[in-house]
Amino acid sequence: NVRLEDIKRRFNNVTAIEDITFEIPDGEFWVLVGPSGCGKSTILRTIAGLESATSGKLFIGDRLVNNIPARQRDVAMVFQNYALYPHMTVAQNIAFGLQMRKFDAKTIQDRVVTVARSLSLEHLLDRKPKQLSGGQQQRVALGRAIAREPQVFLLDEPLSNLDAQLRDDTRAELKQLHQKLGITTIYVTHDQVEAMTLADKIVVLNNGRIQQIGEPQSIYGCPANRMVATFLGSPP
Ligand code: ATP
Ligand code: MG
Repeated sequence: NVRLEDIKRRFNNVTAIEDITFEIPDGEFWVLVGPSGCGKSTILRTIAGLESATSGKLFIGDRLVNNIPARQRDVAMVFQNYALYPHMTVAQNIAFGLQMRKFDAKTIQDRVVTVARSLSLEHLLDRKPKQLSGGQQQRVALGRAIAREPQVFLLDEPLSNLDAQLRDDTRAELKQLHQKLGITTIYVTHDQVEAMTLADKIVVLNNGRIQQIGEPQSIYGCPANRMVATFLGSPP
């Protein structure tokens, strides 16, 4: 599980997030939503270890990780602006993190095939990134991050560069991959449909604070306040 206890992050005089408390049970898919600047990326980056919390406690699988560096947390993160290794093939890109972690050749081969199949990349394994479309490249970035089966998978608007059709397809593939691997996932999006279709739980944020946490239908049907209602377009 992933547990945040009263996490706060200040940048100089600006409080980016505060009072952030929640616990995600193993294997669940949570989605963070809220207006630009509300603190979504800061929460993900803090969990990943790319930012440190100003105060509060962060646990990953019962380990207090506040002072554990990013690479020693069993966490993978994918951004909107992914960068693939241009000189490597798709297969080599997906295998990269596994090789770094000294997985054996058979495991690497199996994982590459599984991930490529789930993300519709199996026919592209020998290509270089520049021979791929933007959507294909983003799927490789997702595959590369998830191939080592991290304890926690963090995604910051991973589909927002894609056109509507590709976004739908990739969203469905991500959902399948999640169902297959069962990795605890936190996903940031601006897209209401993505939030409603992917989430076990949605966390609505505003001004760095949690407004509501709940299942998509219950938040939509029973928004805690006007901000949540407006943001999710709940019926009046
Ligand atoms: P968006 O939807 O636009 O990506 P967000 O919800 O991800 O927004 P954050 O990037 O988490 O928002 O930013 C939260 C707040 O913290 C904002 O007010 C932002 O300006 C501020 N902030 C984030 N990173 C820094 C930084 N490195 N230095 C100073 N302020 C920062
Ligand atoms: Mg952001």
